[in-house]
Amino acid sequence: MQRLWGRKISDLAFGEFLQILEWVAKKKNKLVIFIDQWYPSTKTCFNCGHVLENIDLSVREWRCPSCQSVNGRDENASKVICAVGASTLPGDVSRATPAIAV
Ligand SMILES: [Zn+2]
Repeated sequence: MQRLWGRKISDLAFGEFLQILEWVAKKKNKLVIFIDQWYPSTKTCFNCGHVLENIDLSVREWRCPSCQSVNGRDENASKVICAVGASTLPGDVSRATPAIAV
């Protein structure tokens, strides 16, 4: 988000940022989906769903002990968050598009 919004995200309280995000999404007829803030998105393998017990903050890439796929920490977490968010929506989400494309 820092890269996308630059200094604005640093200046605003995160709650205000979320309000703006919801406003933009509503204006563009999109949805903002929130997932549990404690969902283990970083520790969950996007490929197979295996959940690591622990992962150090310095580990940027890890190999899944179950399916052997190599997961980039942030990219894997973003895919997991997207999948979890999409799974909470009723109906067909295959045509869902993000409100703000990165
Ligand atoms: Zn895996």
